[in-house]
Amino acid sequence: MGVRIGLETIAARTVGRLSRVAGRGGGTTLPGKLLWKVDPGAVDALAARLPAGVALISATNGKTTTTAMAARILGADHRLAWNRAGANLLSGIASALLSADGAELGLFEVDEAALPEAIERTLPRALSLANLFRDQLDRYGELEVVAERWRTAVRTLPERTMLVVNADDPVVADLAVGRERVLLFGLDDARHARPTLQHAADSKYCLRCGAPYEYAAAYVGHLGDYRCPACGHARPPLDVAAREIELLGLAGSRFRLATSAGETEIELALPGLYNVYNAVAASSLGLAMGASVGAIRAGLEGFSAAFGRFERIPAGKRRIVMLLIKNPAGANEVLRTLETGVPPVLVLALNDAIADGRDVSWIWDVDFEPLLPHAGRVVVTGERAAELGLRLVYGGLPHDRLEVVPSLESALDRGLELTEAGTDLVVLPTYTAMLALRGILTERGLVRPYWDGDAP
Ligand SMILES: [Zn+2]
Repeated sequence: MGVRIGLETIAARTVGRLSRVAGRGGGTTLPGKLLWKVDPGAVDALAARLPAGVALISATNGKTTTTAMAARILGADHRLAWNRAGANLLSGIASALLSADGAELGLFEVDEAALPEAIERTLPRALSLANLFRDQLDRYGELEVVAERWRTAVRTLPERTMLVVNADDPVVADLAVGRERVLLFGLDDARHARPTLQHAADSKYCLRCGAPYEYAAAYVGHLGDYRCPACGHARPPLDVAAREIELLGLAGSRFRLATSAGETEIELALPGLYNVYNAVAASSLGLAMGASVGAIRAGLEGFSAAFGRFERIPAGKRRIVMLLIKNPAGANEVLRTLETGVPPVLVLALNDAIADGRDVSWIWDVDFEPLLPHAGRVVVTGERAAELGLRLVYGGLPHDRLEVVPSLESALDRGLELTEAGTDLVVLPTYTAMLALRGILTERGLVRPYWDGDAP
């Protein structure tokens, strides 16, 4: 076994170098795909060699950001094998294991559907499960299918594994029931709660009896402090909580992180309650892997956004602020962030490749309405620009404030032209539109290619 791994490792690393040289996808998954094809069992063997073990993170929303935050926290004390480019299938984990010489700790973001196999092959010390939103449905089917996969996968966890779950998501919190080693995290600040669930909420009915939950506080989509009035099923007590949360618009947020190991103030350079969730999830995973509260604070404060999810990119005298939108729940949170200061110019980009979701009808579930009366000029772009424009006009945006510019590059330039010097151009793209825009900005020398950096 040892000799075979040696040869395959060398072969796969060589392909990785060639792939980087050839400029094909940064070489982030090709060697892993090769190893995965030649010998899937090599992943088990490579993971087992990590002296500090493996931590896994899955969720429908926010897992790339959460993993990048956890990397800052855990990377202070350990050399990491980390699938930083979001290559979150088993082949991507194989690539990360191959490319990290001398790694001590494996930190892997895992696709929701790939989770059972990732658990089986890496036998994690800690597993973080953060949320289940109705996401990428045309790839994975209903929420319930993924939830059932997770239930089965959690039953196969080694007993020593610390299961870290979001107590604010009823389906996810339920995975912790009956387990010895669990850590439950959530938000605890009713000032930021919405009075009622948004229509994009995903999990509103009691898991035990089917009656609608009542929310003392709903924070992001269906995440919050829920209780069933019929049978009493309720959010479990929090082991790790974010309290006294202050949202500072696009500048970020501030909150008090309360844990059994102590409390600390956190300043986060990312906007919105959804990023507070990501930070609390990363903190909880850090605790589960032995990090101190001080290390968590230092890690989160040193963190600047994960690749592309939230970026500020200087462009001459202006700044481009790019926030990924990919489904109603996520888009609603991004828009909610902007409500505190609606930008004068917005570029919205909608593509319909597989990674975006072929069916773009989800834009009709996004709450654009509160924003539209205050938006000065909106440029819509991408493969489905016309449909997006129609959605906004139906939502109340006057025709004369809308521009439809299908070419991403032209739309970006138009947005920059409309933006006053010294201010921000806010761009909200779907996934492949974000990659394309990032490619354009890279060609102009404004951002580095994503594989060519240290921590994002
Ligand atoms: Zn109930």
